Amino acid sequence: MIDPTPPFVKEFNQTVEDVENFLVMTRASNLQRAALDVISAAAENVRAEKALAISNGDEDYANLLLGCQCVATALESEIKMWLYLKQERPDDAWNELVNAQMASTDAMRAHIGFSHLTQHVRRLNAIESLVFPPQVFVSSGMIVGFQECSICGGDYDECSHLVGKPYMGDLCHIVARNISLEHVAIVKDPADKRCRVERFSVEGGYRNRMTWQIEAESNEA
Ligand SMILES: [Zn+2]
Repeated sequence: MIDPTPPFVKEFNQTVEDVENFLVMTRASNLQRAALDVISAAAENVRAEKALAISNGDEDYANLLLGCQCVATALESEIKMWLYLKQERPDDAWNELVNAQMASTDAMRAHIGFSHLTQHVRRLNAIESLVFPPQVFVSSGMIVGFQECSICGGDYDECSHLVGKPYMGDLCHIVARNISLEHVAIVKDPADKRCRVERFSVEGGYRNRMTWQIEAESNEA
């Protein structure tokens, strides 16, 4: 990953390698659930190690550990995706897939040591197109009163931080304040693929775009 790899990260990489064995649908669900426990325990350790790196002012190491956290999230989400698919819960599986895709991209943003994840992202994109039906995405147009920087809490237009860049173990993002919804639009390439048309109205209820089942109108809350 990086050279020389710190011993803590070496150990984490070993855990990742072990857990990767369960990133396929055919694995027994009970073993996949056990792998989830392993990776969430590893994520807990990374969190503690990152706090230490931050208190030592070691920004490069903190960012590397942020990348490890994102990798752990990606693995957890992918395993959950396979579990949900086996439980006939495709909508939940979809959300986990998108979460895994975003976490993998975040890991690459966090530290140069994760640039090899392009291959992993490609794999997740292949799963998206082979396992799930095409989706109709929506995007909401908002009027944002104030763009707050997640790193310094100031006005994003005035501070020096950049969205998607790592700062001492955290990725910068914008926190939109005082927002009002302007419109909702169908889009091809949404910022968040969890925003999609889940059901559409048909005679007798709503057809689920994943299962193609017609769900009763009474289920609609
Ligand atoms: Zn800032």
